[in-house]
Amino acid sequence: MDSLREIEGKQAHDPIFIEKMNKSCSRSSRCVYVPGPLIVGAGPSGLAAAACLKAKGVPSVILERSNCIASLWQFKTYDRLHLHLPKQFCELPLMGFPTDFLTYPTKQQFVDYLESYAKKFDIRPRFNETVSRAEYDPTVGFWRVRSVRSKGKETEYVCRWLVVATGENAEEVVPEIEGMGEFGGDIRHTSSYKSGEEFRGKRVLVVGCGNSGMEVCLDLYNHNAKPSVVVRDTVHILPREMLGRSTFGLSMWLLKWLPMRLVDRFLLIVSWLMLGDTARFGLDRPRLGPLQLKNLSGKTPVLDVGTLAKIKSGDIKVCPSIKCLKGHVVDFVNGKTENFDAIIFATGYKSNVPYWLKERKMFSEKDGYPRRPFPNGWKGESGLYAVGFTKRGLLGTSMDAKRIAEDIEWCWKREAKHHFCTHHNHHHHHHHHG
Ligand SMILES: Cc1cc2nc3c(=O)[nH]c(=O)nc-3n(C[C@H](O)[C@H](O)[C@H](O)COP(=O)(O)OP(=O)(O)OC[C@H]3O[C@@H](n4cnc5c(N)ncnc54)[C@H](O)[C@@H]3O)c2cc1C
Repeated sequence: MDSLREIEGKQAHDPIFIEKMNKSCSRSSRCVYVPGPLIVGAGPSGLAAAACLKAKGVPSVILERSNCIASLWQFKTYDRLHLHLPKQFCELPLMGFPTDFLTYPTKQQFVDYLESYAKKFDIRPRFNETVSRAEYDPTVGFWRVRSVRSKGKETEYVCRWLVVATGENAEEVVPEIEGMGEFGGDIRHTSSYKSGEEFRGKRVLVVGCGNSGMEVCLDLYNHNAKPSVVVRDTVHILPREMLGRSTFGLSMWLLKWLPMRLVDRFLLIVSWLMLGDTARFGLDRPRLGPLQLKNLSGKTPVLDVGTLAKIKSGDIKVCPSIKCLKGHVVDFVNGKTENFDAIIFATGYKSNVPYWLKERKMFSEKDGYPRRPFPNGWKGESGLYAVGFTKRGLLGTSMDAKRIAEDIEWCWKREAKHHFCTHHNHHHHHHHHG
C-alpha cells in the first residue's frame, strides 16, 4: 500500500526524524509511518472522510477493529431495519444513492451502497486492528497510534493527522439492574437482536423507547411474541410522515422560514391530530419541543412506524422502570410484578474515545464527544479531527468529512512544498510520494 510506509523506508529521506521516532517507538511493536491522515473507524464517517480526502489528492489509512466496513450496520442491526430518514438526507459526499433505492433504504441497500462507495474511492481499510491508544508527541509533532491485531500483535502508527471516526455507537450501554445476573431468561442488547422469529410466543420486555426499542416491539408483535416496553423517560413520538411528506424533511423546510419554537408547535399539533394524546398511553412528552430538545440535548424524537397503534390497541404494553429481577420475575417501581421469558435492552450506545485517545482538550472524558457544540466539533489541535459526532446522523457526517478534507488538503499541499503547517522545531525536507 503506498500510503503506508515502514519507518525504515523513509530513513533515506530523513535521518533525524527517523532517529527520533525509533528511539521512542517501543521495541516490542512494529513502527509504521503514515504520510497522510490516519482514520480510526471504517463506518460511514471514516469512509466519507477517506473519500473526501482522496478526491483532493490526499491519501489516508483507515484502521478498523472489525473485519469489514460498516460493522455497526452489518453486525449490530436487526433484519427489518430501514434508514429512519429519507434517502436524500443519508447520502455520503461525492456519490448519491442509486435511483432504484426505496425512500427509506433497507439496511442491505445501505450496506451495498457503502461497499460500492469504498470501491469507487478505492478505500481499503486495514481490518482487525483495534486502536488501543493514541497520543500526541509534541517533541516530534506527530501522533502515535497503537493498534492491536487479533493475535495480540501491536503496531505503532506515526502520523501528522488523526481523524477520529469511531462513532457515537461504539459500545453498547446496558444499565445496572439488581438481580440481572440471576435472571432466568434470555437477556441481551438490541445490538444482538436480529428478528422476532426466535421469540415467537414468548413474553419479551423491551427496555427503552427510542427508535430501536419501538421498532423492536413492533417486530416482536409481528412475530407473535408478547412485547412490553419499559418507558422511564418522557419521549416525543412523531408520525414518520405528515401532510404527505417526511416529518424530517418537512421540519428542515419549515426551519428555513420559521423559528424552531414555532416549527415545534406545528409538529406537536399535527402529531396530536394524527396520533392523539400519547400521554394517555403512558408516553408523556417532554416539556421542550422535539426540535428544541434535539438541539439542546441531542435526544432524538421517535419516528413512529406503527408501534403506537399497537400500544393503543393494547397489543404492546407500557411498563414503568424496573426495580429488580428475580428468576423470570420482573419487579417494577410501581409495585407490580410480571413474568418474562426475555429482556431486550434498547438502551443505546456510547462513544469509546476516552478509552483510547489520550487527549482531554477536544474530547470530553465524560461522554466521549467533542466539547465544542455543532458545527464546531470537527477540529481540534495538532492535527486532530472528529467526524460523525454531531448527533445529526449521516447529514452531520457529510458536513464534517468535507470540512476535514478541506482543512487537511491545505496543510498537505503546503507540506508538499517543504513547509510544515504548524510550528515545528527542527527543519528538514519532507517528501511525499503517491
Ligand atoms: C439502529 C440504528 C439506525 C440508524 N439509522 C440512521 C438513519 O436512518 N439515518 C442516519 O443518519 N443515522 C442513522 N443511525 C446513526 C448511525 O450511527 C449512523 O448512520 C452511522 O452508522 C454513523 O457512522 P459512523 O461511521 O460515525 O459510526 P459507526 O457506523 O459506528 O462506525 C464506527 C466504526 O469504528 C469502528 N471502531 C470503533 N472503535 C474502534 C477502535 N478503537 N479501533 C478501530 N476501529 C474502531 C467500529 O467497529 C465501526 O466500524 C442509526 C443508528 C442505529 C444504531
